[in-house]
Amino acid sequence: VNALARGEIAGLTTNNLDAHWMPFTANRQFKKDPRLLVKAKDMHYTSADGRQILDGTAGLWCCNAGHGRQKIVEAVQNQVAELDYAPPFQMAHPKSFELAARLAALMPDPLNHLFFTNSGSESVETALKMALAYHKANGQASRTRLIGRERGYHGVNFGGISVGGMVANRKQFGTMLAGVDHMRHTHNIAGNEFSKGVPKNGVEYAEDLMRMVQLHDPSTIAAVIVEPVAGSAGVILPPEGYLQRLREICDEHGILLIFDEVITGFGRLGTPFAVDYFGVVPDLVTTAKGLTSGVVPMGAVYASSKIYDAFMTGPDHLIELFHGYTYSAHPLACAAALATLDVYADDELLTRGARISQYWENALHSLRDCKHVIDIRNIGLIGAIELEPMAGEPTKRAFTAFLKAYEKNILIRTTGDIIAMSPPLIISEDQIDELTGTLRGVLNALD
Ligand code: PLP
Repeated sequence: VNALARGEIAGLTTNNLDAHWMPFTANRQFKKDPRLLVKAKDMHYTSADGRQILDGTAGLWCCNAGHGRQKIVEAVQNQVAELDYAPPFQMAHPKSFELAARLAALMPDPLNHLFFTNSGSESVETALKMALAYHKANGQASRTRLIGRERGYHGVNFGGISVGGMVANRKQFGTMLAGVDHMRHTHNIAGNEFSKGVPKNGVEYAEDLMRMVQLHDPSTIAAVIVEPVAGSAGVILPPEGYLQRLREICDEHGILLIFDEVITGFGRLGTPFAVDYFGVVPDLVTTAKGLTSGVVPMGAVYASSKIYDAFMTGPDHLIELFHGYTYSAHPLACAAALATLDVYADDELLTRGARISQYWENALHSLRDCKHVIDIRNIGLIGAIELEPMAGEPTKRAFTAFLKAYEKNILIRTTGDIIAMSPPLIISEDQIDELTGTLRGVLNALD
């Protein structure tokens, strides 16, 4: 057994890829022709075959500070040597409080309290559970219904896929949570083609929430969860005024509003959070990814004082919320997050997107005349290029573009027939040109 654990397995080589069942991956295609990354620094990955790959996706929307940042690396190295782990239930370590206080200071009032998780999916489950428990604590236990949105992505756990609206992520997994409904999505190219920033048309989609309120009665609705900008479904932007209108309806009917800021948080839109960009303050905000610039897994949920205070009643020796993870506020994650916040501050990265977004927008929209392009969308340092699907073979054209782009040393992402890009916030103008220039060649060479 010990020999096996050490890896002394007959025939084990780095080419033996069979044992690892890869997530959200076409396993058989990948294992025939693997794409392995072995190093990363600043804006580039090094592939196993020795190429420098320009990172057009910040890993997976997470490495906002770029790769291999010295300050973050050292903070994690020092932390693992000093305190590897501390139990987070009824015990703690100092860095979690420092981190929570600094994160609270970054967000407008009344989002003053932080609950730590290990991923975006866990942040979503946490926020949904908080919303349900809040209403119970507040004497409104009939508010159990959760409202999501078509094409929404809120991670992969049962709560998240229940309120989520990406069909492929739901259809394999049975009935999921009961008592969930979905507003319609806001994607409508017609009338908003090649819009720059938020689309002008579509504020009326927010009235779908009124339809839910009328159908179910507000006394049954706990919370509405939306991504302020939907990333995983292919970069779907909120029409002008849409998020403000959701807030109004929620206020009118005592419904909690949850923003899932797992991708929009930490500078992606050119402001610290989408909350700042849109000037709409929800009751709960889920984050992850950019919190540690992807270096150590970590998520955090912001809760408003109203929500936190509703639990802080009763005898003070009793646990107020029966929820938490073994690795909530893990010391390595806290150290990584604190150093990441330092790097964001030192390099002014939480607002850099605002300074470079015009250049990004121009570069992206210069691809408008490329083959098969039916729409281009952008906001902050996010960009999407939507392609006309191949007849009878949806997703194939964009996936081919992804493979060809990787051959040409740029990393992009695709979902359906949409190419999505979200580079590290340190990207230079020259690197934007390189990304879009290479992409131009790739798109024009597609069938
Ligand atoms: N919520 C949103 C909006 C996301 O974009 C993602 C991941 O892309 C998640 C939740 C899930 O995060 P994780 O993969 O860390 O669980």
